[in-house]
Amino acid sequence: MELFKKAGCGNIILTSLFLIIVVFFPSFSPAAEKTGVTDIRYWSYSGYTRVVIDLSDEAVFTNNRLAFPDRLYFDIKNSSIRKELQKNISVGNGMLKSVRAGQHDKNTVRVVLDLEKITDFKVFTLAKPSRIIVDIFGLKTFSVKKTIVIDPGHGGKDPGAIGPGRLYEKDIVLDVALKLKKILSKDPNIEIFLTREKDVFIPLPKRTAIANGRNADLFVSIHANASRRKKLKGIETYFLNWTDNEEAQKVAARENAISLKQMKRLKKKMDIKDIILSDLSREYKRNESMALANYVQKSMVKGLERNYKNVVDLGVKWSYFYVLFGADMPSTLLEISFVSNPLEGRRLAKDKYRADLAKSIATGIKKYLSSMPEGQMLASTVKTIGP
Ligand SMILES: [Zn+2]
Repeated sequence: MELFKKAGCGNIILTSLFLIIVVFFPSFSPAAEKTGVTDIRYWSYSGYTRVVIDLSDEAVFTNNRLAFPDRLYFDIKNSSIRKELQKNISVGNGMLKSVRAGQHDKNTVRVVLDLEKITDFKVFTLAKPSRIIVDIFGLKTFSVKKTIVIDPGHGGKDPGAIGPGRLYEKDIVLDVALKLKKILSKDPNIEIFLTREKDVFIPLPKRTAIANGRNADLFVSIHANASRRKKLKGIETYFLNWTDNEEAQKVAARENAISLKQMKRLKKKMDIKDIILSDLSREYKRNESMALANYVQKSMVKGLERNYKNVVDLGVKWSYFYVLFGADMPSTLLEISFVSNPLEGRRLAKDKYRADLAKSIATGIKKYLSSMPEGQMLASTVKTIGP
């Protein structure tokens, strides 16, 4: 038997013939037949929480939503609750602060859901066994804390690309990454880590290991581009995949600190080929990496175009980057501008340009996060209480 109640409705539901008889024939004493509240459980997901009030039998209840503070309460008639369940259960998932229950009066158990920020709720009952189910809906955007690892390329003995006037890629990307961290840290739903916060050398495989070790949801490696052709300028974003494109191979060869010849030879090495193919076969990850790259690339171009002329969109590309290899989560590598180009080199030297880049990268990451399908993070965020 399922009875659905519309959100916000405070009417009484009669869930059994027995109770109807009780209402109409009060002399039929129900004193010994009190319904027990046997458990209270909840499951927390992204943007959604389900609370279950377990009952020993069907029951009559009223529910209401009150403001200041925002809360939902349920008065379960002719019921009792065990002492152990009369407590405050802390939830704190952005939608629900806590659930608390108690013996309100001799015959009524009151269950209160302290709300935080919700868009809607639904109440219904299930029979055999009897349960009151409360579904709480939060904002459609992600509300579970996300972990992001930002990787400023190079560092220490490895300066990365070098532009005119001792403009080092390692210094530029560290500054952009620190600015990006500052912006994203303001969001309580995001936990952000950098692979390095100062000028130190970190081997490429260690960078993804840091992301995997943190169980990160996203990995973003930040780099600045360089070319012998000084005229070449623009912004491009990469994800991991095989490519025959010579330019994309050149970029990866430089970032991998190997020659283009070695880079081409890699493709023929069977063991590496097998590993990368198995990695890429996880279709979901490649698609998500591509989506992430698209959001960030678009956001960088759009963000910079507002304040600068001659912003060149080189688009989303793919190549074989060591630093993305083995990342267990959607990952991307940004080439934020060319240090070798006179105009972009001058811009990259400026604090304002780096701040604008950080801001637009943050916007792109957030847009990607709010576009993520909610289902993919369910398994890791399910929480339950009670037996
Ligand atoms: Zn680099």
